[in-house]
Amino acid sequence: MNDRQRDALKQLMRTRINEIEGFLSPTGENSDLDDESANLDQKIASAVSSQVSQNEKRELALIRNNLQWLDSEDAGYCHQCSGEIPFARLQAVPATRLCIGCAERS
Ligand SMILES: [Zn+2]
Repeated sequence: MNDRQRDALKQLMRTRINEIEGFLSPTGENSDLDDESANLDQKIASAVSSQVSQNEKRELALIRNNLQWLDSEDAGYCHQCSGEIPFARLQAVPATRLCIGCAERS
């Protein structure tokens, strides 16, 4: 990975972090959760939304870590096998720290 690619990845990660933060902080999200008049559809909808939030929070943490990782010496190298992770893969999955081979084995 060259410096230009590293900068492009950092920019991409920051954009993604902003997107997730915006998604995770809508105002008054859970205000109707205990309303007894809530029907089943609404209960299912909030269960799904809370599951999505968990996934987004996990991704947010991973991308924040990877943003720091890009400034370290082993930036761009697989966490498991130390092989170089293709730039295109990091662009497609900025939250990963594994090469395709290790990701498929895990
Ligand atoms: Zn690997």
